Amino acid sequence: MTDIKSMNMEELKELMVQIGEKPFRAKQIYGWLHEHLVTSYDEMANIPKSLKEKLKDYPITVLEELDVQTSKVDGTRKYLFRLSDGNMIESVLMRYKYGNSVCISSQAGCRMGCRFCASTIGGLTRNLLPSEMLDQIYRIQTSIGERISNVVVMGTGEPLDNYDNLLRFIHILTEDGGIHISQRNLTVSTCGLVPRIYELADEKLQMTLAVSLHAPNDEKRRELMPIANKYSVDELLDACRYYFDKTGRRITFEYSLVAGVNDSKENAQELAGRLKGLNCHVNLIPVNPVRERSFVRSTRQAVENFKINLEKCGINGTIRREMGSDIDGACGQLRKRYMEKTESEK
Ligand code: SF4
Repeated sequence: MTDIKSMNMEELKELMVQIGEKPFRAKQIYGWLHEHLVTSYDEMANIPKSLKEKLKDYPITVLEELDVQTSKVDGTRKYLFRLSDGNMIESVLMRYKYGNSVCISSQAGCRMGCRFCASTIGGLTRNLLPSEMLDQIYRIQTSIGERISNVVVMGTGEPLDNYDNLLRFIHILTEDGGIHISQRNLTVSTCGLVPRIYELADEKLQMTLAVSLHAPNDEKRRELMPIANKYSVDELLDACRYYFDKTGRRITFEYSLVAGVNDSKENAQELAGRLKGLNCHVNLIPVNPVRERSFVRSTRQAVENFKINLEKCGINGTIRREMGSDIDGACGQLRKRYMEKTESEK
């Protein structure tokens, strides 16, 4: 591997030895990359020139900011970054009272095919490297000059479909010597790759797992998410129980409300029945209209009613506050628009 920003401390130490340097240099370089967030070897003040020369074969991954849109309503910022091979990805900065939160992408495109999602329309282009996931956070922290305290892996891509890189990313993000974000301040979403949820549970990380459920039963879920053809809701919920047993972390279920599809009183009651006894919380999301899809978002009243019906059955829900509604368009739209523009210019 030559991607130095994706190396953990141990690997960096091995690299130092391999190129004839003292292992302590690894800690210095790691600190420059992951704590001070520098973008070139020239900025590494205490690294000798001779070592910088050797490191030329190990280029530092840095994302290029192509566009940023800032919401006038709440300061939410949507970033479009270009990767070194020309692919584009989106990240979002949300400003809350408790701190700055960044939502990052884990893949360029996505192959999961969820029907309400713009990011999957062109399929999966490729997995992101750990360094490319990290640098979304690093570039945003540098550009606003404020600390990022929370990270959500919920942008484009299915994080558990890029499992090894995700784990490496989590370790570099949360361990000592780097940007050091607490695992408790990290949320990773999944559309429900059941075997991977078991594997992740065995890692016993202290992060939050957010499972995109979006329907109370298999039939409805299959209408919205092709992954439901592979794993049933029962199998998914068993995996979630296992995750809670292993980690002690409450599961978050994401539920996008689509008018007339999954937002009725019966749907709420069925959902509550299924989740009973599981330590969990439901995030209710009025679905974002996607130009290419025909889904209509539930009315505000339908969303409120759904929450009340869940709570009557003993399941807690929160209606997700809309961030950056004036710059919105569904997640993945900014990237898509740019890709279309680039195509038409060819
Ligand atoms: S919602 Fe997530 S998993 Fe589903 S297609 Fe979109 S990016 Fe992929």
